[in-house]
Amino acid sequence: MTEVNPQTAYDDNNIFAKMLDGDIPYHKVYEDDKTLAFMDIMPQAEGHVLVIPKQKAVDLADLEPEYAAAVLMTSKKVMQAQRQVFEREGVIQMQLNGSQAGQTVFHYHVHLIPSSIHELGRHAVTQADNNDLANIAQKLAAVIDA
Ligand code: 5GP
Repeated sequence: MTEVNPQTAYDDNNIFAKMLDGDIPYHKVYEDDKTLAFMDIMPQAEGHVLVIPKQKAVDLADLEPEYAAAVLMTSKKVMQAQRQVFEREGVIQMQLNGSQAGQTVFHYHVHLIPSSIHELGRHAVTQADNNDLANIAQKLAAVIDA
């Protein structure tokens, strides 16, 4: 029998899978048939958004081309909205593959962080205020919909 490395097997109970199933609440920024964008609950800067594919991919190695393209197009929309809402040019696009790289949720996701590499906050440490996240999500969503 082929040995399966637990880190490379998709876990249907990961937190983002539960969001896609509607079992866990989140602050939605944008959704289409292939992607979902929502606020990161422990942002590394104000306005930190995550974009995920509606495909069971652990990391980049699993991502199908049509979902890769869709995630990138949604990331563009989110990044343009962040530039407008936060009145800044600089937005970091980051994506971690594997626990060795620091990945903590094993459903592929792109981080979009209105920050600078010199000012970036710590990864997944401090929980943001729920009302603040809701407020930012609403502003970003309004710009994307406009
Ligand atoms: P990774 O370390 O896998 O690249 O990033 C996972 C991200 O998911 C982290 O930035 C972390 O703050 C975020 N995160 C973890 N749990 C939740 C959650 O329950 N809700 C939301 N919205 N984000 C989460």
